[in-house]
Amino acid sequence: MISEEFFYDNETRYFVLQPQNELNRHKKEEYLKSVDFYKQQDKKKKLSGRFTEDHIKDSLANALQVVFEVTENCNLDCKYCGYGELYSGKNSKREKKSLPLVYAINFLNYINEFLNQNLNKSLNKRIAISFYGGEPLLNIEFIKSIVDYVNTIKNDNFNPRFAMTTNALLLKKHIAFLAEHNFRILVSLDGNKNNNSYRVYPNGKEAFNEIIENIDFVYHNYPDFFRKSVDFNTVIHNQNSVSEAFSYIHDRYNKNTKLSELNTSGINEDKKYEFWEKYKNINEDLDQSEDYRFIRDKLSFDTPVIGQVSKFIHTYTNNVYQKYIDFFEVPSNSSYLPTGTCIPFSRKIFITSKGKILPCERISDEFSTMGYISERDVVIDYKGIISYMNGIYDKLWDSYCNQCFYADKCMQCIFNLELGKDKLFCHGYKHESKSAQIISNHLSALKKERKFYKKLLKEVFYV
Ligand code: SF4
Ligand code: SF4
Repeated sequence: MISEEFFYDNETRYFVLQPQNELNRHKKEEYLKSVDFYKQQDKKKKLSGRFTEDHIKDSLANALQVVFEVTENCNLDCKYCGYGELYSGKNSKREKKSLPLVYAINFLNYINEFLNQNLNKSLNKRIAISFYGGEPLLNIEFIKSIVDYVNTIKNDNFNPRFAMTTNALLLKKHIAFLAEHNFRILVSLDGNKNNNSYRVYPNGKEAFNEIIENIDFVYHNYPDFFRKSVDFNTVIHNQNSVSEAFSYIHDRYNKNTKLSELNTSGINEDKKYEFWEKYKNINEDLDQSEDYRFIRDKLSFDTPVIGQVSKFIHTYTNNVYQKYIDFFEVPSNSSYLPTGTCIPFSRKIFITSKGKILPCERISDEFSTMGYISERDVVIDYKGIISYMNGIYDKLWDSYCNQCFYADKCMQCIFNLELGKDKLFCHGYKHESKSAQIISNHLSALKKERKFYKKLLKEVFYV
């Protein structure tokens, strides 16, 4: 169903507000069809982009973030961990392995050469060097060595900034080093003591008291650093709520927290019931919250519903450009890569503790490994990646995308599909009526959050 208050103006190609009841729902749907809103015929041409070697080279030369999986080892055993029993196949079996220092140094040298090829288009040449785990602080010697090494090779084209995600248990011990090197720190915290009951030690004992003691230490002893460089991330599940977690962190540390959901891909068949018992949808939870407006205003663009509105505007209006060149080209002449998958390495480069090179940490290494690091060298198989990616695009196009009403607005990452199966299945596939329903949901969200519309247009950039 299309919202009562909006319609699509074919001349301006914007959604515009309609006086109430001017068009009834049926007429609006007819109207959208008459202006070819659901037009499919040009999509094949528009989405005929092919993945090339230049895409990979360009991404490497403009790398924004290199993430090292310092160690698979962790001092917690959270009950919803992406590497735990709820999931299958993710990044193969965990063996408590640590990334060899020489692998990381080889990769830094490799990326440094790319950054120095004059292909880097950024103004400040900033690159984040991030540490991830397991718990990265369990291997502080590795982190210290990398920081030293990066500081010896940094140059006008390699402007590093350090970052890490941590469960906070070792913060007190290592905060002097982290503050000295201007780390940006993302702390995982699910709210108050009850809310954190899934964050436990391997022996099952709750870790909340020690976690808070460590965070409090930084808060009281490094106040400027805490204010500028510490952020929080909260996983929403059936032991907390957006409201409880948000208020706890806001009241105690005067900070907002980013919100995440449990990852719904790769769930272990035997654990499906347990998983869905723990799972909670952030939007639904926030909608029921009494302090919705307070939280929404604090989180601003990080509020999930506003993120959706932002993507909606990005996808459906013609005032968003994917490439600078689109300002000058007639958009219909441009061709894009199909699906919603990022160009590998354009957002980040993830190095696993086993030396595999992946486009990010959120996907399984089983079907997304794009290169390997060894003691001697770094191998990225350009030709293999190109034929692999284009092969998946072709297979998906023939079986799904050519019929999908979301094809030119697709947000589906191919690495979240079950690529190992003989027949590909796309969870994101939308037929016409489903597509209309989604548009209606987006319009309702836009209606609800209309005060953010101008702000989104002015302030949100997609890269
Ligand atoms: S999930 Fe997919 S689209 Fe998103 S950053 Fe990772 S590889 Fe790219
Ligand atoms: S949602 Fe799936 S079927 Fe639709 S365009 Fe994207 S990848 Fe293709």
